[in-house]
Amino acid sequence: MSNKQFVIIGLGRFGSSVAKTLYALGNDVLAIDINEDLVQDISDSVTHAVQMDATDEGALRTLGIRNFDVAVVTIGANIQSSVMATLLVKELGVKYIIAKGNSDIHAKVLYKIGADRVILPEKDMGVRVAHNLVSSSILDYIELSPDYSIIEIETPEEWHNKTLRDLSLRSRYGINVMAIKKGHDVNISPYAEDIVEPNDIVVAIGSAEDLSKLEESISNHHK
Ligand code: ATP
Repeated sequence: MSNKQFVIIGLGRFGSSVAKTLYALGNDVLAIDINEDLVQDISDSVTHAVQMDATDEGALRTLGIRNFDVAVVTIGANIQSSVMATLLVKELGVKYIIAKGNSDIHAKVLYKIGADRVILPEKDMGVRVAHNLVSSSILDYIELSPDYSIIEIETPEEWHNKTLRDLSLRSRYGINVMAIKKGHDVNISPYAEDIVEPNDIVVAIGSAEDLSKLEESISNHHK
């Protein structure tokens, strides 16, 4: 992927982890926090780190925020600052805005004012951990929306050495297989004739209702 320009506003646990990871992956990262110590701490791990109040429109303008591809607003606790910073980056013309919320109502407000995607880290992680606890073969569960999700399944024994056609997950459960992971190799356009082998991981997409039927059937088999 081509090198993109990211601005990360707020360098708490979440924001600093996003900023450092993006930089390590070869992207340009401008990291902003009102707290000078946090700016100092991250200065060697990002392209630029600046101490400023992200609710100060003039300061954001001076930094040329409108030229950034993506803004990640990670201020959570102070809802007013989170909303103001999100609104300002939107008005300045940043194309894609991701904002961190602290509650469902906060998330709703962020969507209303123009965030393209809102993350509720504790809530999202709680959902993923719970799915993994219900069945250890559910390695990951990512909510795309309240209705649709992506699931990563360690293939149960009864699937082994069968083709996708034999498994007929689409007609049995209404879910679609997006990819099959075989160690480091990932088959991202699986055919009906592709065979599921032991230790493969199947990545599938479906409605929450259909996926939960699949989860139930897998955990029943394992009991
Ligand atoms: P995390 O869980 O990521 O640690 P948090 O929700 O506990 O975050 P917050 O206090 O909500 O932490 O905000 C994250 C960061 O945003 C903090 O480092 C804080 O200094 C910074 N921040 C808060 N307000 C502003 C602002 N107006 N401008 C710039 N940075 C701000």
